[in-house]
Amino acid sequence: MNDGQMQTEHIRLDAENIDEELIAHAAQVLADGGLVAFPTETVYGLGANALDADAARRIYEAKGRPSDNPLIVHIAGADRLGDVAKDVPGTAKKLAERFWPGPLTMVLHKQPDIPDATTGGLATVAVRCPSNRIASELIKKSGCPVAAPSANRSGRPSTTRYAHVTEDLDGRVDMIIDGGDAPIGLESTIVDLTADVPTILRPGYVTKEDLEAVVGKVQVDPALTRDAAETAGRASGQAHNTAGKASGDAAPSGMDAGLHPKAPGMKYRHYAPKGDLYLVQGSEGDVIRCINKLVEAAQQEGKTVGIIATAETKERYRSGTVLDVGTRPEEVAASLYDVLRQFDTLGAEVIYAEFLSGSGLGAAIENRLLKAASYQVLDAPKPMQSSRRRKLIFVEGHGNARSAMAAALFDRLYESSDMEAVSRGIVVQFPEPLNQKTEAVMVSNGITLEGFVSEQLSDEEIDQDTMLFTMEERQRQQVLSKFPSATEENTFLLSEYVGDELEIMDPYGGTLQTYGICFEVIRASIQKLSDRILEEKTL
Ligand code: AMP
Ligand code: MG
Repeated sequence: MNDGQMQTEHIRLDAENIDEELIAHAAQVLADGGLVAFPTETVYGLGANALDADAARRIYEAKGRPSDNPLIVHIAGADRLGDVAKDVPGTAKKLAERFWPGPLTMVLHKQPDIPDATTGGLATVAVRCPSNRIASELIKKSGCPVAAPSANRSGRPSTTRYAHVTEDLDGRVDMIIDGGDAPIGLESTIVDLTADVPTILRPGYVTKEDLEAVVGKVQVDPALTRDAAETAGRASGQAHNTAGKASGDAAPSGMDAGLHPKAPGMKYRHYAPKGDLYLVQGSEGDVIRCINKLVEAAQQEGKTVGIIATAETKERYRSGTVLDVGTRPEEVAASLYDVLRQFDTLGAEVIYAEFLSGSGLGAAIENRLLKAASYQVLDAPKPMQSSRRRKLIFVEGHGNARSAMAAALFDRLYESSDMEAVSRGIVVQFPEPLNQKTEAVMVSNGITLEGFVSEQLSDEEIDQDTMLFTMEERQRQQVLSKFPSATEENTFLLSEYVGDELEIMDPYGGTLQTYGICFEVIRASIQKLSDRILEEKTL
């Protein structure tokens, strides 16, 4: 990956036990106008003397970054704020007291000796005081404020690990410090304190609520809202994926057609993997089903496909390379960029991600995902389109055990005459009564099915008002291949449809207790199914 020309020096520092000589050497490189990549608690930064216009310009060169995108100036302590900013308001002092050192950047009026090269020609300066001990020692020892954007090549995901920095910047900078993984994993929160109301220009680990607790009302730059992004996306008029409805697909140029974000950097394509990233939104079950279908379609086109899942959902994808970003929100923040970079290494051409949105730290994750995906968001279709659906067919092999329980439970839980639920088999040679243990369990739960006999599923009974639910994925595949009227739009794995992780296992050959457990599992799934149908009818 070394496509630069210079020799990069690599050093390793332990934040708990910093080697004095090595850090003094690194600080000297900075003071002499060199570029040093160093760890912070958010992401790795690429530092230069903020007062040295030539040094700042070299940052843009090394990153391949547009020069109107200003750098954040890092200081060693709040007591040095006056060196870089002037007319510092009381709100800034309060925020510094509460959140520094830490992942908060404040935009303030700049001191005249901060060069245009550092601020992108703005009259304001973004200032942060990092808490990582290597970062703060380095800045202190260098004796200058340190301008540092994220230590990645422009447009790529920010770097959260030493290996990422080496991959992007080896041969392009004077020094890279290995200080372990960046624990937060997303860039700092940026708040503009030059406006009447403090305004969040970039969401991060310090949340809107955190800020409001200290300074009262805080607003979010309106250009960051999804509506603005989507307006920009539509205005850009880009073609989009045919597999779903894209609700927004802004390219970087699309942003220009909408509102202008106040942090100049927010308008550029950012954090992006090399493959084409799509975010899929909707209820969990719908999202997983939709992604499974999209992956299948893309694989049929011969594409290498990746999926971004959480620790909770990763088992539910059938094919494609699944990488999980852990549990929300802290683990997701810490691993997102690494996962995006891994997909580059794996050569993923298209990547589908569960759209993880939310408030607090979730808002920062949502923001980075949207930007990484250039606002390509797909709505997972809701398969149950309406109250038109009148017939539910529960399907299994013989049609006299699990499917019979499911149909009977649906009738009891849903309690309405506008839907009928029936049980069918895929391999019924002749009608059989209810499986004995199934019957025993149902009776002990107060359900009797007089004169039940199993029936073979027939293609004729599947019409546009029908939904089919199988107990196992294997059965769903059988139904799809044997019955022309069964399609991806009407044939579902029951557990997947209601957002459960495991298939409903076959109790056959088990004890009465096995059947009892099976009944409870089905009861829970049917409860969710019935809730969902009721909910959709009231929409
Ligand atoms: P990075 O250094 O890669 O984390 O990016 C720095 C971010 O801070 C970019 O989005 C910049 O646009 C933003 N920024 C830096 N200085 C200012 C400023 N004076 N006013 C508004 N945004 C700024
Ligand atoms: Mg950056």
